[in-house]
Amino acid sequence: MTTIHLALVDDWELSGDGSGDIRRLQFEPLRRLVSIYNGLGIRGSFNAEVMQQLTFRQHQGRHQELKVLADEWDDVVRETFRQGHDIQLHIHPQWQNAKYKDGRWKLTADWSILNYSREAALQMLQGGKEYLENLLHEIDPKYRCVSFRSGAWCIAPSPHMLDLLVKLGIVFDMSIVAGVKYDTRNIKLDYTTCEEDFLPYYPVMTDARRVSDKAEPIVCVPTNCFYASRRLVFRHHLEKVGSKVKRKIGQQTAGGNNDRSVEAYGEQWAQIDGSLVKRIYRKGIVPYLKGKHTISDLAQLDYRLMTEMLDSIRKRAKASGLTDVPIVLENHTKDLQNFSDLERFLEKASGSSDIQFVTLTELATNLKENFKIKTRS
Ligand SMILES: [Zn+2]
Repeated sequence: MTTIHLALVDDWELSGDGSGDIRRLQFEPLRRLVSIYNGLGIRGSFNAEVMQQLTFRQHQGRHQELKVLADEWDDVVRETFRQGHDIQLHIHPQWQNAKYKDGRWKLTADWSILNYSREAALQMLQGGKEYLENLLHEIDPKYRCVSFRSGAWCIAPSPHMLDLLVKLGIVFDMSIVAGVKYDTRNIKLDYTTCEEDFLPYYPVMTDARRVSDKAEPIVCVPTNCFYASRRLVFRHHLEKVGSKVKRKIGQQTAGGNNDRSVEAYGEQWAQIDGSLVKRIYRKGIVPYLKGKHTISDLAQLDYRLMTEMLDSIRKRAKASGLTDVPIVLENHTKDLQNFSDLERFLEKASGSSDIQFVTLTELATNLKENFKIKTRS
């Protein structure tokens, strides 16, 4: 029998343009998610976006409200970690040199870490790693950043990104999600030709989309993706449009709020190319559904799609012939609307004998000691 080692991972952050109420998008949904995990005896992992926190700290001298929020960020992270969940490194470079005016952030820096020099990228990665390690060492002196998820998945190709991660002691990267392609005003990347989309592998050090012919000092664990049936995708899309209309009406009657809207999300990720019809289609479901190809992002899936996702994982794990297969699932607390579907899914999965939930730190240990890692054979 194949054991699936499932890592529940969550990119924990404000919206890409720095907008949104941090309590509503981060603190509250994180606490709620953690209490669901705790209730089921599951330990999850959170990729804490640290550039945002460092930027809050830079500006807190002149804006007392930012200090209050940055302190609460620290408290939430520490409390989550204290309860047995993992915290790992996530970096969005667009926070560099951010400006803060009238209670709003203005982010003008490049969204892709691939467009920064080696030195600039190192500085961001190192700053983030040190912040997290300092924060969590008071709870566990052995805590280390061992995994990385790049903002907007930007990891390849790059002459230096994987080298820098190795230098910082990162055991594995999980920024590759095979099949995605973005050509937006903020992000350009093409992962349509990834050589491995399911199992852990040693990457070519200058292009994580490719599998190396030998062992390398870092491993790539792709973030899972699957092919959802058209029937469910269509149904899910219809329901999302329905709830969007409901939310809009709710916002109007409530006099508007600072919540992250579906519109803001679509706008940030709108593809530049394509006809008007294509753009309207994409706006409805960008960027996570491209045809039937779907990133395993639990915030974007309902219970039926989560079940399809798990069926696909089981089939592919079995076909691999391996006894142990690690899988990284994605989530975004800022986009989570439906906690009950997620809870139902996790309840079912936690009762399955072939599924074992792992934290990213446990996954790193297993990659070093037990799991099979692919090379180009
Ligand atoms: Zn992110």
